[in-house]
Amino acid sequence: MYDVEKIRADFPILSRQVNGKPLVYLDNGASAQKPQVVIDAMTRSYAEEYANVHRGLHYLSNLATEKYEGVRGIVRRFLNAPSEDEIVFTTGTTEGINLVSYAWAAPRLQPGDEIVLSVLEHHANIVPWHFLRERQGVVLKWVEPEADGSLDPARVLAAIGPKTRLIAVTQMSNVLGTLVDVKTICAGARERGVPVLVDGSQACVHMPVDVSDIGCDFYAITGHKLYGPSGSGAIFIRSERMAEMRPFLGGGDMIDTVTRDSVTYAKPPMRFEAGTPGIVQQIGMGVALEYLMGIGMANIAAHEHALRDYAQTRFAGLNWLNVQGNAPGKGAIFSLTLNGPAHAHDISTILDKRGVAVRAGSHCAMPLMQHLGVSATARASFGMYNTLAEVDALVSALELCHDLLG
Ligand code: PLP
Repeated sequence: MYDVEKIRADFPILSRQVNGKPLVYLDNGASAQKPQVVIDAMTRSYAEEYANVHRGLHYLSNLATEKYEGVRGIVRRFLNAPSEDEIVFTTGTTEGINLVSYAWAAPRLQPGDEIVLSVLEHHANIVPWHFLRERQGVVLKWVEPEADGSLDPARVLAAIGPKTRLIAVTQMSNVLGTLVDVKTICAGARERGVPVLVDGSQACVHMPVDVSDIGCDFYAITGHKLYGPSGSGAIFIRSERMAEMRPFLGGGDMIDTVTRDSVTYAKPPMRFEAGTPGIVQQIGMGVALEYLMGIGMANIAAHEHALRDYAQTRFAGLNWLNVQGNAPGKGAIFSLTLNGPAHAHDISTILDKRGVAVRAGSHCAMPLMQHLGVSATARASFGMYNTLAEVDALVSALELCHDLLG
């Protein structure tokens, strides 16, 4: 039985007030709040268990290394990756995708080679590919979503041509909540010999993810959306792809030997982790992932589906409210606009006065905004600790917006 009140009690910030009202935190798509176990683990790490990792022979260094390296196995389990050697630690999805762009794609792609992208993508899964377009003549091929915001895998696969070298696609839109059938995309792409990178930033927070079942080559996650600290993250890289990658950042920890004339590199995944990492951040992410797995991702998904369904029912009664995208099976992420000239920033400011935190803007997805024909939306994104009563609080604050702005 999913006990949302018990879960809420694990998150100290949820009991605070904002603008004299109980906080209704609906900005989880941008960053999620942290449970006390994560805060405690990070405090303990700094207070009692801290030293640099990998290089010391002293007690604390070994302890910190053991805790830090233990997170690789936790991420492996969370994603059901075949091996923890296929998990590279990053500071988040942005770094993970840039790593693939610099270390795997840049040395392999020739002018005229193509990367297939969807219009749903976050800038983190667009700009690193624009670099290749600008710097080495790579062509970006865009796949349009359907009218309901869904992405048809057949359209993605139809975009593959003889020069396609990579498909880079999100598993869940951070703007519309659209869930993308990445498994079908990966199966079709594999038949044509095209690797697939999946941006898992949003999807893995809301549902069980199994990269072995999906069959992707790269799967990037970011710790701060997973109820862990900012500056933490990881990317699953299939071992065949990892073997094709050249080192990216150079420095300590990623080498085997260095002389005046030569350098040899550490084995992957260390080869791609130069310098002192975010030790405590990664340890915090590991605790967050254990916390999520303890509750069960399928249970979290079921709870959030109930929130989604209830929100959709409530929104349906508001004929002055536009909800962008209504793809079947979408996540509990809603991009909202009002009929008329009201700006998303005004909506968000009024909601904030009611203690309701949402995000307003283009959500780092300008091509999608251009496709939708809007400059900005107010986005309410739900998480594991949100309640049906908070859907009501959102709707009542939206009604106030309609009264004041509509
Ligand atoms: N991809 C998606 C779908 C996102 O929602 C985000 C964050 O908003 C990112 C990538 C980038 O994540 P980060 O800023 O943690 O690197």
